[in-house]
Amino acid sequence: MKTTGQKSSNTVWHHATVTRQRREQKNGHKSVILWFTGLSGAGKSTLAHALEERLHQQNCKTFVLDGDNVRHGLCSDLGFSDDDRQENIRRIGEMAKLFIESGVITLTAFISPFRADRQKVRNLVPEDDFIEIYCKASLEVCEERDVKGLYQRARAGEIKAFTGISSPYEEPDNAELVVNTGGLTLDECVDQVIDFLLQRGDLPKLRGHDRAQKIA
Ligand code: ADP
Repeated sequence: MKTTGQKSSNTVWHHATVTRQRREQKNGHKSVILWFTGLSGAGKSTLAHALEERLHQQNCKTFVLDGDNVRHGLCSDLGFSDDDRQENIRRIGEMAKLFIESGVITLTAFISPFRADRQKVRNLVPEDDFIEIYCKASLEVCEERDVKGLYQRARAGEIKAFTGISSPYEEPDNAELVVNTGGLTLDECVDQVIDFLLQRGDLPKLRGHDRAQKIA
């Protein structure tokens, strides 16, 4: 299924007086898209939610858009063909764009296997607002974890077009951050992302987080 172009021509964009900038000022942090990508089982959801927990405790405004959850609702009409995957990511990209307008740090956890689709989302927002985070874990590690039993089913031929087995995963070549979710502990991964956001100046200094200074 593919959406081609705009069908509603009689619409006019309404400009809000409460702007993104005012929202960010009030929140005390920037709103960005943290786009987690990686194989199934690499740790995108786990890392996104652990990071959200840490940020939430610091009074940051956050929201996680999670693969399976979105496929239950907004994208329930889509399957896993290349076209449907492309449309899935397009919708999520547009949604993430609205979320950052609302001043929220938006974490997305989708395999998003195709470079071109990730690039399209990147192109939707100003350059600084899209942070691609590659959750790097080898196929062997992901298959060994097999959190949802999907690899076993894919190997048995029960799932068609399964990323890493019968459908490609295109590794990012320009990710802002590569996190070794296949080797590090979850806490180390969360620290790495937070350090990165602190260095960029997206977050104010966080209570109880002094690792950035220790390694500086
Ligand atoms: P994905 O969202 O990429 O499909 P999940 O987050 O559902 O992956 O599953 C990843 C699994 O890997 C979880 O069982 C998690 O506990 C485990 N795991 C081990 N180390 C890490 C890590 N450093 N970061 C994230 N997940 C990890």
